[in-house]
Amino acid sequence: MEKTAPEVSVVIPVYNEEESLPGLFERLLPVMEGLDRSWEVVFVNDGSRDRSLALLLDCVDKHPGAVRVVDFNGNFGQHMAIMAGFSVSRGNAIVTMDADLQNPPEEIPRLLEEMDRGHDVVGTIRSTRKDPFFRKFASKVVNRITNRITGLNLHDYGCMLRAYSRRVVDLINSCPESTTFIPALAQKFALNPSEIEVGHSERELGTSKYSLFRLIRLNFDLMTGFSLVPLQAVTMLGLVIAGLSFVFSIYMLLRRILVGPEAEGLFTLMTINFFLMGVTMFCVGIAGEYIGRIFQEIRKRPRYLVDRIYGDE
Ligand code: UDP
Ligand code: MG
Repeated sequence: MEKTAPEVSVVIPVYNEEESLPGLFERLLPVMEGLDRSWEVVFVNDGSRDRSLALLLDCVDKHPGAVRVVDFNGNFGQHMAIMAGFSVSRGNAIVTMDADLQNPPEEIPRLLEEMDRGHDVVGTIRSTRKDPFFRKFASKVVNRITNRITGLNLHDYGCMLRAYSRRVVDLINSCPESTTFIPALAQKFALNPSEIEVGHSERELGTSKYSLFRLIRLNFDLMTGFSLVPLQAVTMLGLVIAGLSFVFSIYMLLRRILVGPEAEGLFTLMTINFFLMGVTMFCVGIAGEYIGRIFQEIRKRPRYLVDRIYGDE
């Protein structure tokens, strides 16, 4: 049975968030009910091993027809979870947010008002970002580099409290890539994007689902998934080093003729060698990132596996 589409869909990825979910329901649902727009909430359970699914199903029972749960068969990552949420969402405006209450649900009406002003993507900047210092610092550096590399212009890649128009979400749904970064993808399709400042809180319950390693992986996805600039930069670097070496070898040749044979400077030579070996490995690594991405796409495995969708009549 196909219902008429709601005006607003909220898509929330959930991975082991049993501590945060009760508070999330308590704050999010009154906001939705107070919207005077029709709404739905789509939770995506990204393979939680705690009681998250049970809590989500309880919420489905309490809000029949308005809350649905896409249950994954394993952990496929936050961005794939949002992709799955997008593919079943029906709203005219689609809002994404985290389940851990770091994004205040009370900001949703402001996002929607910004959409009403004719923007098709509303990004957010965390005005009072409450995260560990090293995360904030790393984010700043990564935001800068990413904007340079991708040619996008986002102030805060990490904040997932965002709103997208139906057109943008449909375009995202048509992208078959198996690793992605939703805010960047949306920015590519946006015709009239805007950014607003939103509040941000500390994670009070549960722990961050991103280890340092996972964060680094995610940022590689962002940088090499949206641009060929790293690959081209590596080629340039190779050219520059080859050019310098050429000049150096002419100098050495002249010395050989003018000064005679010399055998000093073994350690200098070793240092230069180690440095260049490091550079080479780095370059191979960058090329490898792209090859890995090609490998992933070429296998054509499903990006995620849905076990069941709860809440659909
Ligand atoms: N998340 C997910 N799958 C994952 C990792 C995270 O669905 O593999 C969800 C998580 O439950 C939360 C959101 O993505 O709703 C953001 O995760 P988290 O708060 O741990 O990230 P951080 O705020 O530390 O960047
Ligand atoms: Mg968080």
